[in-house]
Amino acid sequence: MSYAGPEFDPDRPRRSPLRRPVTVALAALVPGALLGWLVFEALGGSDDGGAAAGPGPADSRSASGTDDGRDGEPGTTPSPTGTTAGRPLAGRVVVVDPGHNPSNARHTAEINRKVDIGTGRKECDTTGTATNDGYAEAAFTLDVAHRLRDLLEARGATVKLTQDADRPWGPCVDERARIGNAAKADAVVSVHADGAGAGQRGFHVILPGAVDAGGADTGPIVGPSRALGTDIARAFAAATGTEPSNYVGDGDGIVTRTDLGGLNLSTVPKVFVECGNMRDAKDAALLTSGAWRQRAAQGLSDGIVEFLRG
Ligand code: ZN
Repeated sequence: MSYAGPEFDPDRPRRSPLRRPVTVALAALVPGALLGWLVFEALGGSDDGGAAAGPGPADSRSASGTDDGRDGEPGTTPSPTGTTAGRPLAGRVVVVDPGHNPSNARHTAEINRKVDIGTGRKECDTTGTATNDGYAEAAFTLDVAHRLRDLLEARGATVKLTQDADRPWGPCVDERARIGNAAKADAVVSVHADGAGAGQRGFHVILPGAVDAGGADTGPIVGPSRALGTDIARAFAAATGTEPSNYVGDGDGIVTRTDLGGLNLSTVPKVFVECGNMRDAKDAALLTSGAWRQRAAQGLSDGIVEFLRG
C-alpha cells in the first residue's frame, strides 16, 4: 500500500518532451545553466508523479490527449498513462493476486494452517521462493502487480489487489479465490515466479483443471480460463521476448493443475503465471530487472486486454 513508484523502470527516469525546450530556452536566456535547472525542478523535475502531480503544461497535454482518442497514432505503442490506448477495459473488473506476502516468513504458524481447497486440505499460504541472491518472490510479485495495476487502470479497468503488503500474512489461498469471486472479476491473474533447478528456464501459465469436489466446482471456468491463459502466454512471450518453460508443459508454456486452491475455488476466469525461475541465474537476471518486470507486466496486461475484448 506504500507503493508510489514510477510507472516506468526507475532506472530510466523520463523527462517530458515539452519541459525540455522550456528548460533549455530559459537556460539560454539567463546566464548560467543553474537557473535553468532550478526552473526545471520547479516545473516538476522528474515526472514520476504522472498526471496527478500538478497542473503543469505537460499534465494538461496528457489530459487532453486521453479522452478523445484522436491524439495518437492508432498503431503506436500505448503509453503507460493510456494517452493513446483508449479505455477498452472501462467497466471491467480485474483482480491481481500477488503471490505470497513479504511477511509470510514471520508468520509460519498462521500460513501453515490447513485450509480446504476442494480436493483436500493444503497450507493457507507459503513463503514463496527467492533468487540465490535473496530477491524474494513476494517482492517480485508485488512489484509486477503494481505495474500491471497501473497499466490496466490506464485502460479503464477497475483493479483490485488481493494483498498489497498491507497485512501481516496471507491471505490464505481460499481467501485469495474468494476475493476474486466477491469482486465478480472478469479476469483474475495470480502472479508468481518459480523455484525450480538451475538450467530450468522460462515462463508458464497454470490453468484450472476440472474439479468438482468439496466446495470446488471449476466446470464453468475451465474454458474461459484456458482462453485467458492462452492469450496471456502469447502476449507475455511477445512483450518479454522470453521462451515458454523448458521444464513443464509441452513447450507452449501452458500447464493445467487441480492442486491449487486459488484456482479450484475460483468461480471467475483465473490463471497463475510463473514468470520465470528465480533459481536459474539467467532467469534471475531478468526477474531482478525493473525494465524486464515492466515488460512482464505489459505482457500480462496485453493478454488480459485481448481476453476481455473477446
Ligand atoms: Zn509463488
